[in-house]
Amino acid sequence: MPDIIHLLPDSVANQIAAGEVIQRPASVVKEMVENSVDAGSTAIRIIAKEGGKTLIQVIDNGCGMSETDARMGFERHATSKIREAGDLFAIRTLGFRGEALASVASVAQIVLRTRKSGNDLGTELIIAGSVVESQVSVSCAIGTTFTVRNLFFNVPARRKFLKTNNAELKHIIYEFHRVALANPDIEFILEHNDSEIYSLPRTNLKQRIIHLFGKGINQNLTNIDTDTSLVRVSGYIGKPEFARRTPGEQFFFTNKRFMKHPYFHKALITAYEKILPPDTIPSYFIYLEVDPDTIDINIHPTKTEIKFENELAIFQILVAATREALGRFNLIPSIDFNAEGAIEFPVFKRDDPVNVPGVSYNRQYNPFDEEIRIQGTVDHRDRENLRHWEKLYSHEGIPLQSAALQSEIPEQPSLPLEHLKQADIFIQLKNRYILTPVKSGLMMIDQRRAHERILYEQYIRSFAMNYPVAQRTLFPVTIELDQADYLILTEIAEDLHTIGFDIRNFGTNTIVIAGYPVDNHKEDTRELFDIFLENFKSTGGDIKANVRERIARSMAIASALNYGESLSQQVMQELVDNLFACESPGYSPSGKPVVVILGADELEKKFK
Ligand code: ADP
Ligand code: MG
Repeated sequence: MPDIIHLLPDSVANQIAAGEVIQRPASVVKEMVENSVDAGSTAIRIIAKEGGKTLIQVIDNGCGMSETDARMGFERHATSKIREAGDLFAIRTLGFRGEALASVASVAQIVLRTRKSGNDLGTELIIAGSVVESQVSVSCAIGTTFTVRNLFFNVPARRKFLKTNNAELKHIIYEFHRVALANPDIEFILEHNDSEIYSLPRTNLKQRIIHLFGKGINQNLTNIDTDTSLVRVSGYIGKPEFARRTPGEQFFFTNKRFMKHPYFHKALITAYEKILPPDTIPSYFIYLEVDPDTIDINIHPTKTEIKFENELAIFQILVAATREALGRFNLIPSIDFNAEGAIEFPVFKRDDPVNVPGVSYNRQYNPFDEEIRIQGTVDHRDRENLRHWEKLYSHEGIPLQSAALQSEIPEQPSLPLEHLKQADIFIQLKNRYILTPVKSGLMMIDQRRAHERILYEQYIRSFAMNYPVAQRTLFPVTIELDQADYLILTEIAEDLHTIGFDIRNFGTNTIVIAGYPVDNHKEDTRELFDIFLENFKSTGGDIKANVRERIARSMAIASALNYGESLSQQVMQELVDNLFACESPGYSPSGKPVVVILGADELEKKFK
């Protein structure tokens, strides 16, 4: 039998490597701009077209390359930044693996123009799909310009995989934020489709943050600064009251390289313990400086993960430094957010089986056959129909949303509790649960999730009927957004209008909100909007959900009434009625249970 193993040609090997390093246009931007930073540039200009799919150009004024180096740079494992294995532990440059140019050249069409200072002429090299097409002398400015066209032109499967131009642009912007924050002493310009998105002068870190995220962030920040023999920690952290519900402005840099570090993130969260509103994440821009031989950057081809020799010690230093910064600015108030509402109810033990309520719905009921209900409340005629919602909790079983759950539905408790009179009695427990007796036992409803479910279905109805939700007009509130959020917003503005927002003036990253859906429970428009936007962003990875579904879900979460709100009998009655007018009252829009029944037999067991 003949031998079957052979070496892959370089072009194929490079394409395979490109699979890891170059995932999308933003990866090209990252690699090219990092090279420009390594080349000692003081000004870097990035030009992208159509989300970087058709064109990415990176122009720098760095050291440039000689004719031979320009050619060599595209070889795999070709680098000027390290020479031997030992150098891996003294890395001061962003690059060192010598993979980026070879990878990009294997999946795109590149024109490189570069000139070193001291040389009269520069060189122009054209390469596409790893094949050098030409190299000639040209006159050009000192520095380097990479023009990368038609990314993945020869890998249709990957090209198809790219998202919309706006989505790809967002990724470019995220990479841009990282490199711009790591190098405030470099001037950066970012242009997309011939319009300028950012023009950042050389400045200090604080000003750079403000240029990127808007003036509003200024009063939110407080500086952090600690020097130890292991690490120097500097930068800015956000005040707790500005913390948001989903990740956004959390940045760690080590020796001027952006990194992801979940463990150090935990250090920050630990330091903020008890002073953060529940479920929020503070902003931070933290810069670590360590001896390069105490870290290993060579963990992943994208080099955003770093292994620290002194991880534990740095964790503790980070906690202490953050606490000190918070304390210095009197940001540790005496209130304790945990005082209220930390409750253990329902009183099931951990391993006790929980009965999923068996519920049927009124098949006659059609939410669309009456005039639209605009405030998430049902009018009186409907309420009469719904008064017998208790009956819905019979033995027929509710159509649950989750098939997985459905298979686990246990038998309903069969012991009849005829003597337990059902009445319109509602007890609010811990300002969080609504309790009411039903035939089979005690029904417990999570008030916030119930309201989320009601609002969610209401928004979905508005979309289905293209009938706007009623709107409350406001004194207009101006909100400045960062570029990425602004882009998201322009995409969904029309849908937001359908559910009752009046958003105007899409000026330079600034919007004006002049009205919002009437049924929301947040007084603060800015807060409502922030929570909405963050939830919306965080559902971006949910490929099963379409945009409107995500909007409905995020708005429901943003506007639902909170735990801690005390509810009158009438409000509880309305909430319960409206909940059971929903198609899927059993689950919140995020799939969490809304209703739990403590069966009579469970109760009986407890009294044994
Ligand atoms: P690495 O950055 O890991 O060394 P790359 O493939 O990104 O590998 O780049 C290969 C080499 O090309 C670099 O080591 C550097 O010498 C040279 N190079 C790339 N981009 C530039 C640039 N903008 N200016 C000067 N030299 C560059
Ligand atoms: Mg590089």
